[in-house]
Amino acid sequence: MKIKFLGAAMSVTGSCHLVTTDHSKFLLDCGLFQGSEALEELNYQAFDFDPAEIDFILLSHAHVDHCGRIPLLVKQGFTGKIYCTGATAEIADIMLQDSGNIHEMDAKWINKRTSRSGQRQVQPLYTEEDAARCSQYFFPVAYGQCFEINSRIKIRLNEAGHILGAAIIEMWIEDSGKTTKLVYSGDIGAVNQRMLNDPTLIAAADYLIMETTYGDRAHETQQESGKRFLEIIFKTVARGGTVVVPAFALGRTQDLIHELELFYDHHEFHQNQLDKVNVYVDSPLATDATAIFRKNAHYFNDAIKERIKNGEELFYFRNLNFTKSIDQSKALNENASPKVIISSSGMADAGRVRHHLKHYLWKPKSSIIFVGYQAEGTTGRAIISGEKYVRILRERIHVSAEIYFLEGFSAHADKNDLLKWLSGFKEKPKKIFLVHGEEEAKKTFANTVKRILGFDCTVVEDVSEYSLDDDALTVDGIKERIDLKNQINKLKDNLGDIHDELDNLLAIPGVAMSEAFPDEKVEDLEALTRDLKKTCEELKIMIKN
Ligand SMILES: [Zn+2]
Repeated sequence: MKIKFLGAAMSVTGSCHLVTTDHSKFLLDCGLFQGSEALEELNYQAFDFDPAEIDFILLSHAHVDHCGRIPLLVKQGFTGKIYCTGATAEIADIMLQDSGNIHEMDAKWINKRTSRSGQRQVQPLYTEEDAARCSQYFFPVAYGQCFEINSRIKIRLNEAGHILGAAIIEMWIEDSGKTTKLVYSGDIGAVNQRMLNDPTLIAAADYLIMETTYGDRAHETQQESGKRFLEIIFKTVARGGTVVVPAFALGRTQDLIHELELFYDHHEFHQNQLDKVNVYVDSPLATDATAIFRKNAHYFNDAIKERIKNGEELFYFRNLNFTKSIDQSKALNENASPKVIISSSGMADAGRVRHHLKHYLWKPKSSIIFVGYQAEGTTGRAIISGEKYVRILRERIHVSAEIYFLEGFSAHADKNDLLKWLSGFKEKPKKIFLVHGEEEAKKTFANTVKRILGFDCTVVEDVSEYSLDDDALTVDGIKERIDLKNQINKLKDNLGDIHDELDNLLAIPGVAMSEAFPDEKVEDLEALTRDLKKTCEELKIMIKN
């Protein structure tokens, strides 16, 4: 048997692992690469296998970095079943169609630009229609049920506590005359969440593939983040500002709505204050996902089930508004009154939130609150890292708003929760493969595991294949190519910054021709030139190596 780590190997996104046995070939997830331009280019490269040869897919959950390339797979000949929970099947359907729509819009936008300069037209990765065709392949399996896929492969899906319907997958695979147990963690949720049960502990595995998103960080609890969330809202609104929350349409948005509705329930004193603040969920996808959450009550923890039993409406409070049309979305930025806008995408690289950030990021009265993981290379990551300027919709925007990162809302376990989950194994698995994390997170977590549990972990750093028969890991090596393209892009951004700075300077009447040319402008240009030189030097070292 072989396991090939094709995605979430050198980054957090693009989860896709190919399992080949002596009788079958199947995938664990088939997600989109998200983040830097170089990483996203991988979505357009041919699969490492013939999609028609894949017998089935085991899908851990409906986030697009885990399911986003399924339409591409179907388009290229995959006709097998996609096993996942019922909630995942339902949510993945709308997520994929939304993703198809984004790809169509992106292609349209690029083609509009490139056609004017006579360049080649691009095709969308897949369309909304391609995505809609996938729903026929989803096959729901309930949590906790031992399900026989065929006479030689059995699976069980367990609650992962990550998002509604997310699963930790146990597999019993008969291969070369013996049964091997493989466990795929998918994405693991934090413990003590407001709406979901804790991730299920798994007692045994021969081989384990485990996520490590927050392998090197501990974060505050959801309750602590919830408290700060309200404090930031009141503070911002009091000074006449608007709060913008880039949030994943699936999971984070519903958590935030729930946090606000709980506050409403328990703080009569503050209701007057909150009544004056309108909260807008500006994401059609989030609105649709919220409707699916409402009708899948059996996936929630007891506290939420109790609310529903008592006839309380879920995800509702007085001043909550869901905006649908583009005109309604635009109107939010024309209305000057203080408000809260929750909008996707969560990493601020796509969707309507870009327009809201363009409008509020440069205003000192505003607050921007990030509530989920921000992958390397994304706009969200640049903002939380303290960059003074970011590029949004091709414009260079000055970051003047107050920036917050409330990690307690994260759908991911932090390093302590990951360790707690791993310590649920009664015996050390033969191999533990660490995936779905940045290099530092994976390595730090491997060291922590060794120190505390005494288990050795294999850090997957690049596209690579592990053969169970001869215990060998073969590396394909695409990481270097991604790093190189990232560096060239950095160079392009440095040049763009210098260009924009000069443009701004020339636009101020009289300044460029004035005898008293401002010193600080020269210093700004010098600093930008230094950045450019540094990037060039780093590039030189990369090429030499
Ligand atoms: Zn996820």
